Amino acid sequence: MRRPLIAGNWKMNTDRAAAVALAAGVAKGAVDFPKLDLVVCPPFVYLEAVRQALGNAPVSLGAQNMYHQSQGAFTGEISPGMLLDLGCRFVILGHSERRQLFKETDAEVNRKLLAAFAAGLTPIVCVGELLADREAGRTHEVIRRQFDCSLAGISAEQAGRLVIAYEPVWAIGTGRVASPEQAQEVHHDLRKMLTERYNAEVAAAVRIQYGGSVKPDNAAALLAQPDIDGALVGGACLKVTDFLGIAAACR
Ligand code: PEP
Repeated sequence: MRRPLIAGNWKMNTDRAAAVALAAGVAKGAVDFPKLDLVVCPPFVYLEAVRQALGNAPVSLGAQNMYHQSQGAFTGEISPGMLLDLGCRFVILGHSERRQLFKETDAEVNRKLLAAFAAGLTPIVCVGELLADREAGRTHEVIRRQFDCSLAGISAEQAGRLVIAYEPVWAIGTGRVASPEQAQEVHHDLRKMLTERYNAEVAAAVRIQYGGSVKPDNAAALLAQPDIDGALVGGACLKVTDFLGIAAACR
Protein backbone atom coordinates (compact mmCIF):
# COMPACT_ATOMS: atom_id res chain seq x y z
CA MET A 1 0.00 0.00 0.00
CA ARG A 2 1.25 3.46 -0.87
CA ARG A 3 1.21 5.90 2.02
CA PRO A 4 -0.70 9.04 0.97
CA LEU A 5 1.35 12.21 0.81
CA ILE A 6 -0.19 15.65 1.30
CA ALA A 7 2.23 18.46 0.53
CA GLY A 8 1.71 22.20 0.82
CA ASN A 9 3.48 24.47 -1.65
CA TRP A 10 3.49 27.84 0.07
CA LYS A 11 4.97 29.50 -3.04
CA MET A 12 6.12 33.12 -2.48
CA ASN A 13 3.74 33.70 0.43
CA THR A 14 3.94 34.43 4.16
CA ASP A 15 6.38 36.53 6.12
CA ARG A 16 8.49 35.12 8.93
CA ALA A 17 5.78 35.42 11.60
CA ALA A 18 3.08 33.98 9.33
CA ALA A 19 5.36 31.12 8.26
CA VAL A 20 6.07 30.19 11.88
CA ALA A 21 2.37 30.40 12.80
CA LEU A 22 1.33 28.27 9.82
CA ALA A 23 3.98 25.65 10.56
CA ALA A 24 3.04 25.55 14.23
CA GLY A 25 -0.62 25.07 13.33
CA VAL A 26 0.15 22.21 10.94
CA ALA A 27 2.48 20.64 13.51
CA LYS A 28 -0.22 20.73 16.16
CA GLY A 29 -2.82 19.07 13.91
CA ALA A 30 -0.48 16.53 12.35
CA VAL A 31 -0.79 14.02 15.18
CA ASP A 32 -4.32 13.27 13.95
CA PHE A 33 -2.96 11.77 10.72
CA PRO A 34 -0.65 8.89 11.57
CA LYS A 35 -1.41 7.14 8.27
CA LEU A 36 -0.39 10.06 6.04
CA ASP A 37 2.84 11.82 5.21
CA LEU A 38 2.54 15.59 5.56
CA VAL A 39 5.03 17.95 3.95
CA VAL A 40 5.30 21.74 4.04
CA CYS A 41 7.33 23.64 1.44
CA PRO A 42 7.87 27.22 2.61
CA PRO A 43 9.99 29.84 0.83
CA PHE A 44 13.74 29.15 1.12
CA VAL A 45 14.32 32.02 3.53
CA TYR A 46 11.89 30.62 6.09
CA LEU A 47 13.01 26.97 5.97
CA GLU A 48 15.03 27.29 9.17
CA ALA A 49 12.28 29.09 11.08
CA VAL A 50 9.71 26.56 9.89
CA ARG A 51 11.97 23.65 10.83
CA GLN A 52 12.15 25.02 14.35
CA ALA A 53 8.41 25.61 14.51
CA LEU A 54 7.74 22.02 13.40
CA GLY A 55 9.93 20.64 16.18
CA ASN A 56 9.42 16.90 16.44
CA ALA A 57 6.01 16.92 14.78
CA PRO A 58 5.44 14.29 12.08
CA VAL A 59 5.67 16.84 9.28
CA SER A 60 8.49 16.85 6.75
CA LEU A 61 10.17 19.88 5.32
CA GLY A 62 10.43 20.44 1.59
CA ALA A 63 11.75 23.12 -0.72
CA GLN A 64 10.05 24.53 -3.80
CA ASN A 65 13.05 24.37 -6.12
CA MET A 66 16.83 24.01 -6.17
CA TYR A 67 19.79 24.22 -8.56
CA HIS A 68 21.47 21.07 -9.82
CA GLN A 69 25.07 22.06 -9.00
CA SER A 70 26.48 21.32 -5.57
CA GLN A 71 28.40 24.60 -5.16
CA GLY A 72 30.15 27.40 -7.02
CA ALA A 73 29.60 30.66 -8.82
CA PHE A 74 25.84 30.45 -9.34
CA THR A 75 24.59 33.69 -7.84
CA GLY A 76 21.20 33.42 -6.22
CA GLU A 77 20.91 29.65 -6.48
CA ILE A 78 20.44 27.03 -3.75
CA SER A 79 22.12 23.61 -3.82
CA PRO A 80 20.73 20.20 -2.82
CA GLY A 81 23.27 20.04 0.01
CA MET A 82 22.08 23.36 1.41
CA LEU A 83 18.52 22.01 1.51
CA LEU A 84 19.64 18.88 3.32
CA ASP A 85 21.60 21.03 5.72
CA LEU A 86 18.37 22.86 6.60
CA GLY A 87 16.53 19.60 7.25
CA CYS A 88 14.68 19.26 3.96
CA ARG A 89 13.67 15.79 2.86
CA PHE A 90 11.63 16.76 -0.19
CA VAL A 91 12.05 19.15 -3.09
CA ILE A 92 9.43 20.16 -5.65
CA LEU A 93 10.92 20.13 -9.15
CA GLY A 94 9.51 21.28 -12.48
CA HIS A 95 6.48 23.07 -11.04
CA SER A 96 4.47 24.60 -13.90
CA GLU A 97 5.23 28.10 -12.57
CA ARG A 98 8.94 27.32 -12.89
CA ARG A 99 8.40 25.91 -16.36
CA GLN A 100 6.21 28.79 -17.58
CA LEU A 101 7.46 31.90 -15.77
CA PHE A 102 11.14 30.95 -15.49
CA LYS A 103 11.35 28.94 -18.72
CA GLU A 104 12.65 25.80 -17.04
CA THR A 105 13.04 23.05 -19.60
CA ASP A 106 12.54 19.31 -19.27
CA ALA A 107 16.33 18.93 -19.55
CA GLU A 108 16.86 21.24 -16.57
CA VAL A 109 14.22 19.40 -14.57
CA ASN A 110 16.06 16.18 -15.37
CA ARG A 111 19.42 17.59 -14.17
CA LYS A 112 17.75 18.70 -10.94
CA LEU A 113 16.12 15.31 -10.47
CA LEU A 114 19.45 13.52 -10.86
CA ALA A 115 21.08 15.94 -8.42
CA ALA A 116 18.28 15.55 -5.87
CA PHE A 117 18.61 11.77 -5.91
CA ALA A 118 22.38 11.97 -5.71
CA ALA A 119 22.06 14.16 -2.60
CA GLY A 120 19.45 11.95 -0.93
CA LEU A 121 16.47 14.27 -1.33
CA THR A 122 13.09 12.97 -2.45
CA PRO A 123 11.97 14.85 -5.55
CA ILE A 124 8.34 15.70 -6.18
CA VAL A 125 8.42 16.12 -9.94
CA CYS A 126 5.51 18.01 -11.49
CA VAL A 127 3.97 17.26 -14.86
CA GLY A 128 0.83 18.69 -16.42
CA GLU A 129 -0.73 19.90 -19.62
CA LEU A 130 -1.93 23.37 -20.62
CA LEU A 131 -5.61 23.94 -21.35
CA ALA A 132 -4.81 24.24 -25.06
CA ASP A 133 -3.09 20.83 -24.94
CA ARG A 134 -6.10 19.21 -23.29
CA GLU A 135 -8.53 20.81 -25.70
CA ALA A 136 -6.44 19.65 -28.65
CA GLY A 137 -6.35 16.08 -27.31
CA ARG A 138 -2.62 16.28 -26.57
CA THR A 139 -2.70 15.51 -22.83
CA HIS A 140 -1.14 12.06 -23.12
CA GLU A 141 1.54 13.29 -25.52
CA VAL A 142 2.56 16.21 -23.26
CA ILE A 143 2.64 14.11 -20.09
CA ARG A 144 4.60 11.41 -21.90
CA ARG A 145 7.22 13.93 -23.09
CA GLN A 146 7.58 15.47 -19.61
CA PHE A 147 7.79 12.00 -18.04
CA ASP A 148 10.36 10.67 -20.50
CA CYS A 149 12.60 13.76 -20.46
CA SER A 150 12.41 14.41 -16.72
CA LEU A 151 13.24 10.81 -15.82
CA ALA A 152 16.09 10.28 -18.28
CA GLY A 153 18.91 8.39 -16.56
CA ILE A 154 16.89 7.69 -13.40
CA SER A 155 17.39 4.09 -12.26
CA ALA A 156 14.59 1.76 -11.17
CA GLU A 157 15.87 1.96 -7.59
CA GLN A 158 15.70 5.77 -7.68
CA ALA A 159 12.36 5.82 -9.45
CA GLY A 160 10.83 3.73 -6.68
CA ARG A 161 11.49 6.63 -4.29
CA LEU A 162 10.12 9.29 -6.62
CA VAL A 163 6.95 11.30 -6.08
CA ILE A 164 5.13 12.53 -9.17
CA ALA A 165 2.61 15.37 -9.01
CA TYR A 166 0.11 15.52 -11.85
CA GLU A 167 -0.88 19.17 -12.00
CA PRO A 168 -2.97 20.20 -15.00
CA VAL A 169 -1.84 23.79 -15.57
CA TRP A 170 -5.41 24.93 -16.20
CA ALA A 171 -6.39 23.82 -12.69
CA ILE A 172 -3.59 25.56 -10.78
CA GLY A 173 -4.77 28.57 -8.82
CA THR A 174 -7.85 28.86 -11.02
CA GLY A 175 -10.47 27.22 -8.82
CA ARG A 176 -11.13 24.93 -11.79
CA VAL A 177 -10.37 21.45 -10.50
CA ALA A 178 -9.97 18.38 -12.69
CA SER A 179 -12.80 15.92 -12.21
CA PRO A 180 -11.81 12.79 -10.28
CA GLU A 181 -12.22 10.83 -13.53
CA GLN A 182 -10.02 13.21 -15.54
CA ALA A 183 -7.33 13.06 -12.87
CA GLN A 184 -7.55 9.28 -12.45
CA GLU A 185 -7.16 8.79 -16.21
CA VAL A 186 -3.82 10.64 -16.26
CA HIS A 187 -2.62 9.04 -13.01
CA HIS A 188 -3.37 5.61 -14.48
CA ASP A 189 -1.54 6.59 -17.64
CA LEU A 190 1.49 7.68 -15.58
CA ARG A 191 1.50 4.39 -13.70
CA LYS A 192 1.46 2.55 -17.03
CA MET A 193 4.44 4.61 -18.15
CA LEU A 194 6.27 3.61 -14.95
CA THR A 195 5.50 -0.07 -15.62
CA GLU A 196 6.71 0.15 -19.20
CA ARG A 197 9.86 2.10 -18.39
CA TYR A 198 10.74 0.25 -15.17
CA ASN A 199 8.58 -2.59 -13.87
CA ALA A 200 5.34 -3.35 -12.02
CA GLU A 201 7.04 -3.12 -8.63
CA VAL A 202 8.29 0.42 -9.25
CA ALA A 203 4.92 1.45 -10.69
CA ALA A 204 3.17 0.13 -7.59
CA ALA A 205 5.55 1.98 -5.26
CA VAL A 206 5.58 5.48 -6.78
CA ARG A 207 3.24 7.98 -5.18
CA ILE A 208 1.38 10.12 -7.70
CA GLN A 209 -0.20 13.23 -6.23
CA TYR A 210 -2.87 15.35 -7.84
CA GLY A 211 -2.50 19.14 -7.72
CA GLY A 212 -4.74 21.92 -8.96
CA SER A 213 -7.31 23.79 -6.85
CA VAL A 214 -7.58 21.01 -4.25
CA LYS A 215 -9.77 22.17 -1.35
CA PRO A 216 -11.25 20.37 1.66
CA ASP A 217 -14.58 20.03 -0.14
CA ASN A 218 -13.28 18.44 -3.34
CA ALA A 219 -10.38 16.42 -1.89
CA ALA A 220 -12.26 13.30 -0.81
CA ALA A 221 -13.53 12.44 -4.30
CA LEU A 222 -10.09 12.97 -5.84
CA LEU A 223 -8.24 11.05 -3.13
CA ALA A 224 -10.67 8.14 -3.39
CA GLN A 225 -9.39 7.36 -6.90
CA PRO A 226 -7.21 4.24 -7.00
CA ASP A 227 -4.16 5.89 -8.56
CA ILE A 228 -4.29 9.19 -6.65
CA ASP A 229 -1.94 8.95 -3.69
CA GLY A 230 -2.21 12.39 -2.20
CA ALA A 231 -2.28 16.05 -3.12
CA LEU A 232 0.08 18.88 -3.86
CA VAL A 233 -1.77 21.88 -2.51
CA GLY A 234 -1.17 25.53 -3.34
CA GLY A 235 -3.71 28.15 -2.20
CA ALA A 236 -5.47 25.98 0.36
CA CYS A 237 -2.26 25.11 2.21
CA LEU A 238 -1.94 28.67 3.49
CA LYS A 239 -4.75 28.11 5.98
CA VAL A 240 -4.13 25.49 8.65
CA THR A 241 -7.77 24.38 8.73
CA ASP A 242 -7.91 23.95 4.95
CA PHE A 243 -4.62 22.06 4.73
CA LEU A 244 -5.61 19.75 7.57
CA GLY A 245 -9.12 19.50 6.10
CA ILE A 246 -7.58 18.08 2.93
CA ALA A 247 -5.58 15.63 5.04
CA ALA A 248 -8.78 14.65 6.84
CA ALA A 249 -10.45 13.93 3.50
CA CYS A 250 -7.75 11.34 2.90
CA ARG A 251 -8.45 9.25 5.97
C1 PEP B 1 0.25 24.29 -7.07
O1 PEP B 1 0.69 25.38 -7.38
O2 PEP B 1 1.01 23.33 -6.97
C2 PEP B 1 -1.18 24.17 -6.83
C3 PEP B 1 -1.69 22.99 -6.88
O3 PEP B 1 -1.86 25.34 -6.58
P1 PEP B 1 -3.43 25.47 -6.22
O4 PEP B 1 -3.76 24.41 -5.21
O5 PEP B 1 -3.58 26.85 -5.68
O6 PEP B 1 -4.18 25.27 -7.50
